[in-house]
Amino acid sequence: ETVGALLDRMAGVWPDRPALVVRQQGIRWTYRQFLAEVERVASGLLALGLEPGDRVGIWAPNCAEWVVAQFAAPKAGLILVNINPAYRSHELSYSLNKVGCRALILPRAFKASHYLKLLSGLAPELAHAASGELSAAALPDLRHVILLDDDVESGTHRWSDLAGDAAAMKRLREIEATLSFDDPVNIQFTSGTTGAPKGATLTHHNIVNNGYFIGEAMRLTEQDRLCIPVPFYHCFGMVLGNLVCVTHGACMVIPGEGFDALATLETVAEERCTGLHGVPTMFIAELEHPRFHEFDLSSLRTGIMAGSPCPIEVMRRVVRDMHMAEVTIAYGMTETSPVSFQTVPDDPLDRRVATVGRIHPHVEVKLVDEAGHVVPRGTHGELLTRGYSVMRGYWGDEESTAVAIDAARWMHTGDLAVLDDEGYCTIVGRLKDMIIRGGENISPREIEEFLYGHPDVQDVQVFGVPDEKFGEQVCAWIRLRDGATTTVAAIQDYCRHNLAYFKVPHYVRFVDAFPMTVTGKVQKYLMRESMVAELG
Ligand code: ATP
Ligand code: MG
Repeated sequence: ETVGALLDRMAGVWPDRPALVVRQQGIRWTYRQFLAEVERVASGLLALGLEPGDRVGIWAPNCAEWVVAQFAAPKAGLILVNINPAYRSHELSYSLNKVGCRALILPRAFKASHYLKLLSGLAPELAHAASGELSAAALPDLRHVILLDDDVESGTHRWSDLAGDAAAMKRLREIEATLSFDDPVNIQFTSGTTGAPKGATLTHHNIVNNGYFIGEAMRLTEQDRLCIPVPFYHCFGMVLGNLVCVTHGACMVIPGEGFDALATLETVAEERCTGLHGVPTMFIAELEHPRFHEFDLSSLRTGIMAGSPCPIEVMRRVVRDMHMAEVTIAYGMTETSPVSFQTVPDDPLDRRVATVGRIHPHVEVKLVDEAGHVVPRGTHGELLTRGYSVMRGYWGDEESTAVAIDAARWMHTGDLAVLDDEGYCTIVGRLKDMIIRGGENISPREIEEFLYGHPDVQDVQVFGVPDEKFGEQVCAWIRLRDGATTTVAAIQDYCRHNLAYFKVPHYVRFVDAFPMTVTGKVQKYLMRESMVAELG
């Protein structure tokens, strides 16, 4: 099934069920209304002259228009390109050119007007005056700029004016009839946790099926209302959030443009949400919010924690204090649509808080050592997955694709994992993040889990820093709870009494924040760089 056919079917079955709530914009649409809006935009995009297979970029924070574009572009056979709203001119032009975007959707507030003119290629003579690196000539493929706001800007199109005439509607129906679920639908960028983000080309078949199985694991129905505070430009928001809701006729509830713990808590309470998504740092921010106890979260049942290692203690608190008895942990990556492991409510509680569950239906898994040999159960190895969910490849980058996906179509995740006898998987960490100190392999995760147990520690990240003598030394960055008075020496003592000597952090720093991607993932490589600079 294509994304468009899926929406048609759901709007046919549940025309009057709520589809989308965006509180900030005062939007409450049923499936019928949502589909009508999607078709207006889909035909409007075709009326601009866009052709199936053309790339359409969207560079915007979470908003109703984003969700509409997510379904309108696929309906018209266009490939939606998700662009990080935090990007600025250089990164934006790089992404647009990398995939040859024909059109770009953005809120006007993102850029000053002369900049927009450059984008739309209207005033090349202004190019030299631009403060950013962008110029019309530098964006050879871009033909259309579509503004989400209501002000007009000459040479650009207004989102609210997009509308197809009878001919565009006819064209839309023709395209829908010929689209294949094997066609690419999306270029999604990875988070950039370990370096520059990579654009994964995904098909309708990839994401519609993954969305369906994710929703099944959550026991989602048309009665559910899912609060989605994670960014849409990333697979977590657009697939695990929006698309999963549509595969089950559930309602997408959007608390705001970016993540805000208070707005999220308010939204869950006032909209009586039954589900809530988040990366671990978001759940921590909600649980630690000073007004947490003022909100009635008793409507919550499910949700997904994913994206980075989910601390066991945080999972326990989510189950207990946020009433999310059926919360699931998912593991995946943008390149695999994204989910490949997920816990289900029937799993025993200890597995549900401490593992990422078992392999998804129709996905294969194996763990291999450095030589590529399968390791015995209970042993660490690199996680490889294979199946319908593996991407086509990185757009326009056959070399990187060949490194990630081998000749037998196995996706090399770059994550270290271990499988138990019953198939439950524990993510040990990223291969890149493993610390090797004096020949000992150390998993940062283990030390992090241990330090979470310290009463003064709110959040902690452990990583290796280069060391002449040992190769690497263990370093811990810690965010303390308000009012905590512990010292570096006390933290090291605490570790010394409970961990092998080589795991005791040699460096401990108390910090206010960690460097983070917009998707809420901690960028250890930046922390490592900062330590290297500090230590000279
Ligand atoms: P980049 O590839 O650009 O460095 P990224 O790998 O963080 O960034 P994503 O595709 O957003 O980009 O994230 C996938 C990665 O997130 C996985 O490879 C894994 O390391 C991590 N991850 C996802 N879910 C979990 C989880 N439940 N537990 C532990 N790690 C997870
Ligand atoms: Mg990755």
